[in-house]
Amino acid sequence: MSRGDIWWSNAIFFTGMHAAALYGATQLSPWSHLHSYTLALCFVSWQLASFGITLGYHRLWSHNAYQARMPLRIALAFMGSLGFQGSIKWWVVRHRLHHRFTDDPVHDPYSAELGLLWSHCGWIYYKKPYPRMKLIEKSDLDSDPVVRFQHRHYVSIALIAGLVLPAAIGSLWGDALGGFVWGGIVARLLIWHCTFMINSLAHWTGEQPYSDENSSRGTFLIALCTSGEGNHNFHHAFPRDYRNGPAFGDWDPTAWILSLLHKFTNQIPLLHHISQADYLKAKSSMLLLEASKLHAQIPVDSLPRDDNELPQWSEQQVKQYVQLEDEKEKDARVVLLIDEYLVDVSAYATTHPGGRSILERWRVQPQQVSLKDSTKAFHGLVNRHSKGAKETMRLLRVAKLKR
Ligand SMILES: [Zn+2]
Ligand SMILES: [Zn+2]
Repeated sequence: MSRGDIWWSNAIFFTGMHAAALYGATQLSPWSHLHSYTLALCFVSWQLASFGITLGYHRLWSHNAYQARMPLRIALAFMGSLGFQGSIKWWVVRHRLHHRFTDDPVHDPYSAELGLLWSHCGWIYYKKPYPRMKLIEKSDLDSDPVVRFQHRHYVSIALIAGLVLPAAIGSLWGDALGGFVWGGIVARLLIWHCTFMINSLAHWTGEQPYSDENSSRGTFLIALCTSGEGNHNFHHAFPRDYRNGPAFGDWDPTAWILSLLHKFTNQIPLLHHISQADYLKAKSSMLLLEASKLHAQIPVDSLPRDDNELPQWSEQQVKQYVQLEDEKEKDARVVLLIDEYLVDVSAYATTHPGGRSILERWRVQPQQVSLKDSTKAFHGLVNRHSKGAKETMRLLRVAKLKR
């Protein structure tokens, strides 16, 4: 796997921003004299970028998960530029590669196979060749005037909106430098690492409720930091759905905003989502898989034998069996006839929750003409036995009665 040459401009800018943030944040510590408005500016600047990436770059332009009218597209392109993650066009083609070849060390730009650091931000430092980039569909991007304009003017839009504008806003309350450091540089670091978390942590830790085809996972905490994108397992299973967290209790404010805009404005004429049947199919298949994994842990001798494997005994054979002494108990066998099966409870009788004496009362007696049948007693007449009791009874079957 070739990592390609080091991408010096990216490396210097990315590392330099971290150094500047560290220096600036220690000089203008929020615990000393930082204006509370400046901290609010940092939060807003981060969140605008976050929703610009999730609503715009990701769900609209990468996956066409909904239709958006021009005013909303322009707003989202501007907000997404605050993410400092390249132009829409640059971002989307890489993201489509990630979905097309998830986890592939060659073709997935942020493949989880290459380790946590690589998938988080290591990949930014290299001009890695992507031989299958040419297979990625991008005619929709090329025909979108908003995407074309943003791509052409991306660097100036990003620098002005992401660094100059926060300083200008901070100057409104006399804190231009604080606005630059916190609303500009620190907010850029927040959006970087939160977005990168989806490529790294959301492919490394969490639940897989919808699919185990690739490394994508979902966690509430990552969803909280990423405007809902931490529900990454659902997203990889159904990338065209406008939601990333469709279940009750999933944190997905990006989907909530889309629903509200769809319902109360004319900006989103159409939202794509999967059918309830597809949702249930995905979820139930993973639950069944989980159940089969648990079932596989049960020791074979704790599972009831296949009824067809049991021998078939005549009444005479049953009476002969009952007359034999039980090896462990050194006593006559306690055998019940339930559902046409002979159930040997000799060794179990002392631990029977209902006591031994009741079993003895219902046992098959060799001297009786016809075998005493405990079926009705077992299924409600004497006790409505639990599922566990029925399982135990099945385990103790020794033969089927031949009529
Ligand atoms: Zn992913
Ligand atoms: Zn995606």
